[in-house]
Formats: sequence, C-alpha cells, structure tokens
Amino acid sequence: MRGGSLGLLTSFVKWELVIFIICAEVVSFVCMQVPVACEREKQPLSNSLESQVRTFNEIARNPSYGKDIRIFQAWEFFHQHYKRTGDERRRLTEMIQAKYLRSNLICTMIAVGKDFLLFFYLIFLVGKNKLALEDFVLLMGLASGFSSNLLQIFQSFSTFARDSVHIMSLNEFLEREDMQDGGDKSIPDEIRQIAFEHVYFKYKTEDDYVLKDINLIISAHEKVAIVGLNGAGKTTLVLLMMGLLRPSKGRITINHTDISQFDRASYLQLFSAVFQELNVTAFTIGEQIAGGRWNPDLVWQALEKSGLKQRMEKEPKGLDTCIHTVFDEQGIELSGGERQKLATARALYKDSPVIVLDEPTSAMDPLSEWKMFQKYDELFPEKTVLYVTHRLSSVKFCQKIILLENGEMKEYGTHEELLRLDGTYAALFRLQKESYGLESEEAE
Ligand code: ADP
Repeated sequence: MRGGSLGLLTSFVKWELVIFIICAEVVSFVCMQVPVACEREKQPLSNSLESQVRTFNEIARNPSYGKDIRIFQAWEFFHQHYKRTGDERRRLTEMIQAKYLRSNLICTMIAVGKDFLLFFYLIFLVGKNKLALEDFVLLMGLASGFSSNLLQIFQSFSTFARDSVHIMSLNEFLEREDMQDGGDKSIPDEIRQIAFEHVYFKYKTEDDYVLKDINLIISAHEKVAIVGLNGAGKTTLVLLMMGLLRPSKGRITINHTDISQFDRASYLQLFSAVFQELNVTAFTIGEQIAGGRWNPDLVWQALEKSGLKQRMEKEPKGLDTCIHTVFDEQGIELSGGERQKLATARALYKDSPVIVLDEPTSAMDPLSEWKMFQKYDELFPEKTVLYVTHRLSSVKFCQKIILLENGEMKEYGTHEELLRLDGTYAALFRLQKESYGLESEEAE
C-alpha cells in the first residue's frame, strides 16, 4: 500500500520540471552573488572614502580649523579634495548599486522566463494527452510553490552574504588589539613595580620595530622621565605601558604579572594621562573632568588645585558650563593654558596611581614647561609619574631618566649619572642649553 502511494507520487512528479526549477534558481542565486562579491571587494576602499568624507565634514564644522584655512587660503584645495573624495565615493556607490540593479533585473527575467517555459511545457503535455487538465492546474501550483520556496532559501543566503560584508568590517574592528577584553585577573591594590622585559613593538603598517628590546623597571611613587628626539618611540612606550598597544615580543608586567592577564577596564583605571593633543569635547566642565556622574565637591577641589577654579566660579552655570557652543549657545572657549589646567584637573579627579604626561607642554617655551613639570611634581607627590618630553632640562629632578634613540634605550640613570656618562644625553643637554639659552637658575 505504502509502496503503491510512493509509486503514484513519483509517477506524478515530473523530475525534468524539478531539475529545471532548481537550475533556474541556482542561476538566479549566482547572479545575485555578483554584486555582493563586488561590494565585498570594494569594502576597504568604501570604508576609507567614508572616513575621509567624515574627516572633511569634521574639519568643516570645527571652528578651530577656521583660522588656518583662512590665513593659508586653504579653502580652494580643501574644496577640491572634498569634492574629489565625495565624487569618488558617489561613483563607487553608484557602481555597486548599478550591479545590484542589473542582477535584480536578470533575476526577474529568469523568474518570468521560467514561469513561461513551465506553463508552455505543461500545456504541451496536455496537448499530447500526457497530462490531464486537472493535473495541469495542480502541477502548475506545485511548481510555483516549490519555486518560491527555493527562491526564499536562496534569497536568505544572499541577504546573509550581503550583510556579512558589513559584519566583516565590524569583526575587523572588534578584533583590533585595543578592543580586546584582556584577562580576568583583578588589578593589584598597590602597584609596587611596572617592568618591561625584552619588549619589542612594531605597528601593523610598518616593517620595522619602533621599539627594540626595552628593559626597564619603574617603582612605585617614582618620577620617571622618558626623553628623546621626536620619533624616538616615547609615546609608543607609554601607550604600551597603559595597555593601549600590545608588545609584538616580550612582556610588560605589574608586580610580576603580565598585564595582558588583567581585566582591561580595571587596568585602565590605573592610569591618568595628559597627552600632547588636549582633546576637549563639547560637554560640560563637570563631565569633562569626571565623566558620567560626578561629585561636585571633588570636581571643585580638582579645579582649585589645577588653578581653574577662579575662572569657573565666574561662569553662572558653574560645572554645568559647556565647552564650545554645540550643545549650549552659552558655552565657553578655553585658551591653551586653561585646557592644560582642565586636563590636570581631570588627572587629579581620577586619582589613579600612575600619571602619564606625554608632552602636554610641547607648545610652551622651555621655562614654562619646566615650571609646569615642577607643579605636577608638587601636585602628585604620592603618585608614579612619567614625564615624556624632548626637553631634557625640564626633567632633571626625576629619579630616573630613560633616553630613547631610534626605538632603543640608549641611556638610563639620574641626570647627574647621565652627565657623567658623557654620552648622547650629555651632548643633547649641552646643545639644548645653548640653543634654548637656559641660563636661569631654575632651569640649571
Ligand atoms: P615620539 O613620541 O618619541 O615622538 P612615537 O612613539 O610617537 O615617537 O613614534 C615612534 C615611531 O613610530 C615614529 O617613527 C612614528 O612615525 C611611528 N608611529 C607612531 N604612531 C604610529 C602609528 N599609529 N602607525 C604607524 N607608525 C606610527
């Protein structure tokens, strides 16, 4: 009985039709993949053009670029670059969209052609008395149902392939080293020492190591200077220490534990940093200093120590005063020196055990830098502080001075020890003393 039903079914099914429908849908599917493959191939270029256009938009909206653009009459080439990048992005988008349009058109033609052929083939079978008229209706319905189900399956694959082009970019982003979670160890209550053990580092885009075989130990509460000419690798070294980059070889430890084993979010709590570019966002002073929620008393204390309290007391909105006028028309602009103080207040508020000052004073004259570093020394007596600079006279007071040259640690010691060594540090110090004319007692 069972065998009989199956026999009836298989005799009823027209296998040539099944194969024909499958072939037509496979051809449609292949056709749909052509624009997806093209979009995937062009994704890096598309991402790059997108970020270029975004940068142009940011520059155009940021008033601080206005001065340079006007003075150097840069609007002409700015406009040309903007237009060229915008045009290139538009052409790329149009090219990809045209491919999608063409493939959709071909798929529609295949679908219509397939239905026509099916219809005429079944009519032909009816004409030849190989198919009853009622079976014609039934087979036509079955064929179109089967066909649309197959189409849906293939379309799902196609949508998945298309979305995966964008997921690919997201994955690349999430796999970046600085997005990794790190380990699950909690950070120690007290930092006794930070050590670099045979650390090498190479940026992904570069062939050569930027840092080579760095070995050093920074003890708790020490004031350490990292000096060297521009491009020597000073910033890279502190970024490695703060876990924002990972060593290509070797390891960095805190109290003898590899820092990659620490939970990343809590590891970042160990550091405050004031960088060369003082990035001030358009939010309120309170938010700038403390982040999301803040304790007003502690923020005022930080402002007082950093020297910005008087200035902020004059503002009617106090800590709720916005910087720039993006979010509040009554927002204020801060001078370079005031931004400096804001960054110091941020470090004071965070109260982390290690503070990094990465050439925050590079726009100042040597004497102002010296005074500023002295002030930091007074403000953070209990902290481990790293002073990064290319001006040697500013960091004479440090307990350790590390001289980097072409990514290598050339000299290491106190100011007096390095002068006695009479090597690169001593030569640079003498040269800077002459060219900066630092004859004042402080700078000596
Ligand atoms: P310093 O702080 O001593 O001026 P850096 O650590 O900033 O030196 O840079 C050291 C070297 O690494 C330089 O040659 C610089 O061009 C290169 N470099 C810095 N940042 C990057 C980066 N993100 N990608 C590629 N190379 C970089």
